Amino acid sequence: MHCPFCNTDDTKVIDSRLVAEGGQVRRRRECLHCRERFTTYEMAELLMPKVIKTDGSRQPFDEDKLRAGLQRALEKRPVSVEAIEAAINSVKHSLQALGEREVQSLVIGEKVMEELRKLDQVAYVRFASVYRSFQDLSEFQQEIDRLQSRVD
Ligand SMILES: [Zn+2]
Repeated sequence: MHCPFCNTDDTKVIDSRLVAEGGQVRRRRECLHCRERFTTYEMAELLMPKVIKTDGSRQPFDEDKLRAGLQRALEKRPVSVEAIEAAINSVKHSLQALGEREVQSLVIGEKVMEELRKLDQVAYVRFASVYRSFQDLSEFQQEIDRLQSRVD
């Protein structure tokens, strides 16, 4: 850590403690060159990974797009806004927990399907039919059967 006063990189930590209910570490540092003291704060940075599209291009994670996709699947379904937001947070959290800098869009799609399956089965089938782009009716039927067997 460079000293903000004289810019030397010879500084030492003289005190360190948890603040913000343990969410941050506050450190007092002293410059060994000019003897000035300063404070730094350290906190965990939870970054959303970049999304690798099927064509190989990279895009920033787009929460609005995720929300729009969920809302489209859940249109006119009896699911509260709170439940949708909780599902979005759950998807985001699981992506952050991967600790990867980039993640395939397919991985996100699977996570969204997991959440929808828990929220509403009609919405799940709607989303899955678009997402997995079922080739024909029998494939669609298979998914319905699979869903049915989980319920029973
Ligand atoms: Zn200094």
